[in-house]
Amino acid sequence: MKENHLNVELSVTELQKEDMMSRYWSELVKSLDPYVPGEQPRDKKYIKLNTNENPYSPSPKAIDAINKAANEDLRLYPDFSCEELRITIAEYYNLEKEQIFAGNGSDELLAFCFQAFFNPGNPILFPDITYTFYPVYSQIYKIDYRLIPLDDEFKIKVEGFFSENGGIIFPNPNAPTGTCLQLESIIEILNHNKQNVVIVDEAYIDFGGESAVKLINEYPNLLVMQTLSKSRSLAGMRGGFALGHKDLIEALSRIKNSFNSYTVDRLAIAGAVAAIKDESYFQATRMKVINTRERVSSELCNLGFMVSKSKANFLFVRHPLFSGKDIFLELRRKGILVRHFNLPRIEEYLRISIGTDADMNKLLEVIKEIVMG
Ligand code: PMP
Repeated sequence: MKENHLNVELSVTELQKEDMMSRYWSELVKSLDPYVPGEQPRDKKYIKLNTNENPYSPSPKAIDAINKAANEDLRLYPDFSCEELRITIAEYYNLEKEQIFAGNGSDELLAFCFQAFFNPGNPILFPDITYTFYPVYSQIYKIDYRLIPLDDEFKIKVEGFFSENGGIIFPNPNAPTGTCLQLESIIEILNHNKQNVVIVDEAYIDFGGESAVKLINEYPNLLVMQTLSKSRSLAGMRGGFALGHKDLIEALSRIKNSFNSYTVDRLAIAGAVAAIKDESYFQATRMKVINTRERVSSELCNLGFMVSKSKANFLFVRHPLFSGKDIFLELRRKGILVRHFNLPRIEEYLRISIGTDADMNKLLEVIKEIVMG
């Protein structure tokens, strides 16, 4: 029983439950189909291979910087222009700070991009199998889109992106397939789309792909997005950045300053700067992930899995004899979380994030039991 302000007792059965949930919602909220993040369970300890987090700790220098920044200055707002962080990123990539936008994780930045560069009534293009947040942003910002099918090996077909459009976005490497376009293919897409913004979401680029950042000075319509959540092990901190022509960056700033000027907090700025400066730690951890990925990829092939060629910190796999859902459930029962998407073309697949060698040995052991009985 619940009481309202008139002290009239209302039971859930008196008010339709659904009605209670949505009676105060705007029409927009009612129309939404929100993104479903990978689970972060608390019921027991799992080996977590479901959200593409990095299995290794962030740089000790980043942790130290965050600790040092946890001081009395927290009473003050952070630098809304993120100057120090933008200079650090600009130096790292040999760009100007005016070509860098820093944000609170790349998801938030992607949301800004949909508002800054795309228009209702002018469909944008993205792959049919891709990051499932893109259709969600399209929905909330009322941007139409056309899906460009991946080929049978789950690779992006560049010709699909040559037709008229209101903008383009794709991850490189693609998620959840892990397949990666070469720079020449990105150049082809850019050359066919000089009138529109092309966003390359490089959340996973540090695990073996070639970054499109080096094309920025040549293509004023190219925006590259990167995140600190994957190769820099800072998913829990939230930090992402965009790199592109200063006019694109200015557009993102206009959106941000019409929404929340202080999206990146003091601790995140300090941690991000230190993480980006710790090149040797970054190289060591990313190489560990790459080496583990290659080993596990060939072991899964030996167990009969089809494994798409991944340049990311995850593998996208399917077994010809066992359904993706069954393997997912059995792994979960045995304490290992991977990701299964109940979506057309990929319902038989699993996306497995790369963990430590010990995590992956356990995964292989359990998978062997499942497929070999
Ligand atoms: N882009 C892609 C392709 C992703 O997979 C992710 C992670 N879910 C993101 C962007 C967002 O990363 P974050 O918000 O943690 O920076």
